[in-house]
Amino acid sequence: MLVPSEVRLRQLLQVISICLCITQTVHAGTVSVKVGVAKIAITPYGPNPDWHGPVTVSGIWGERFTDANNNDRWDAGEPFVDDDRNNALDPHSKDKYDGIYLAGFGGPGEDRLATGRHDDLWVRALVLDSDGTRIAIVSLDLIGYYQRSGYYGVDEARKLLDPGLGIRELLVASTHNHEGPDTIGLWGGTANSDGKFPLYLHFIDHEIAKAVSLAARSVVPVRMKLGATGPQLSPALQNLQTRTAGRPPKFFDEELRVMQFIGTEGEKKHKAVATLINWNTHPESLEDENTLLTSDFPGAVREAIEQKFGGLAIYISGDLGAVEIVGDNGQGTRTRFHGRDFPVTKDNKSKTFTFERMQAIGHDVADAAGEAIARAEWSSVTGIETKKADMRVPLDNLGFQSLLAKGILGRMPGMDALGGPDVMSTVHVIRIGDAQIVTAPGELFPEVFYGVKKYSRRDCPKANSGRPAEPSVFSAMTAKYKFVFGLCPDELGYIVPGYDFRPPIFDEKGGVKEADDACMADGVPTHYHETNSASSQLAPVWACTAARLLGENTSQEPACAALPLKARP
Ligand SMILES: [Zn+2]
Repeated sequence: MLVPSEVRLRQLLQVISICLCITQTVHAGTVSVKVGVAKIAITPYGPNPDWHGPVTVSGIWGERFTDANNNDRWDAGEPFVDDDRNNALDPHSKDKYDGIYLAGFGGPGEDRLATGRHDDLWVRALVLDSDGTRIAIVSLDLIGYYQRSGYYGVDEARKLLDPGLGIRELLVASTHNHEGPDTIGLWGGTANSDGKFPLYLHFIDHEIAKAVSLAARSVVPVRMKLGATGPQLSPALQNLQTRTAGRPPKFFDEELRVMQFIGTEGEKKHKAVATLINWNTHPESLEDENTLLTSDFPGAVREAIEQKFGGLAIYISGDLGAVEIVGDNGQGTRTRFHGRDFPVTKDNKSKTFTFERMQAIGHDVADAAGEAIARAEWSSVTGIETKKADMRVPLDNLGFQSLLAKGILGRMPGMDALGGPDVMSTVHVIRIGDAQIVTAPGELFPEVFYGVKKYSRRDCPKANSGRPAEPSVFSAMTAKYKFVFGLCPDELGYIVPGYDFRPPIFDEKGGVKEADDACMADGVPTHYHETNSASSQLAPVWACTAARLLGENTSQEPACAALPLKARP
């Protein structure tokens, strides 16, 4: 059991280590690339041949219940059939209602059990194969997922894959959808309840493996195109991004990046087989009152891209930490999307944040992606270079420690290590042609990706914690097209730069409280993101690990040198 105390916290802060286990493969030679794609709906709604769990009367998957007040959802006190299969996977599920709690918004007492479906949630897989190296890129319309968390995660999916498929790396990223099921446990309604639905998580693992297998078995020869755009070149992107509650600095990763694969033989010749879109903001266009399942605007982006180009579209969220879509949280003033006006109806979210608005936003983003494709360049591919390194951070968020002790958060790799609880994750760097991909296990603040030496806040010098600036990972990337896959493979929460990190205040009774900013009097918001960050060390450990993987000598970087000796990459 974890007993949070000040002494323990101090120990934790001292124990930071990165285990660098770099594996590298470089194949050169033949200029060829093959791509296979697959998509499978994972919407927890209605009949599905792979779903063997319970379904409620509304069609939403979940334990059957007596709807005493006829509101299409289970309410505390209503009798339900406790499914033993959930309890077998997770003993914590016993006597708990297991169903589809929508993730991402709200605190205790504000649960959103799903009441229906607007559009599908997907697992979309892209298998790339060049000169004998095969990798799979998977996107999930979920709030987040894990390499391993207790009984579920990508490791489970991997076990279901035929080793003969030869998948070297399996990169699974979540779009961070806020209108899909709770895959973490935080949104079960009360401070002590767990929103996870074990049978559903088991189902996701199964569907990831199925999609990757289908994609791997359908590879065809292609050529690769790479492109990028931003608000200057594509006005449709202007003023779509905002900062949570206006948290400074007003800095965004404005670049939208695309990778498109065009068939070279047979019936796929000259046709798009796959288009990958990488953009950087929270998919929260429907805000916190909607209870219909939807993949939010990324779904509309994909639909428009598939209509225009054919093939499969896959959307990957990038560095979206502290970045929200316009309108969310009352931020931003833009109300015209895709040629239509969507005025804000004051104090009426259901009238303001409509599905039509969500689709119009998605179509604006898709138009920009289309422009990036129109300007894209062909890239030759001579193999796929894969590198990765483990990273380890202390789980010093006392709120998370408390939830872990209660069994609400699943145990992750590294947590049982000596000197724990630590959390382990992985950073990947992939090179394919003129594209480089770096992964981040959470919600990466854009200024951490680009480098806080240049992009830190300047509004409030006294707010600076004095912690050294993390190195710029973006600058360490040498390829012309620089992709960042956020929430991959893990969702460890916000990756907040050290100089602006203010630890939340925690007490067992009151829970987690956001710390004030030193310039609160000037209207700077409280430090919300730190309450949803697994570790105060995520930013330096991630940036130093990624920079090192990218070939930088990080020993001279103050942020990396400040890490304990054994932690320096
Ligand atoms: Zn978020």
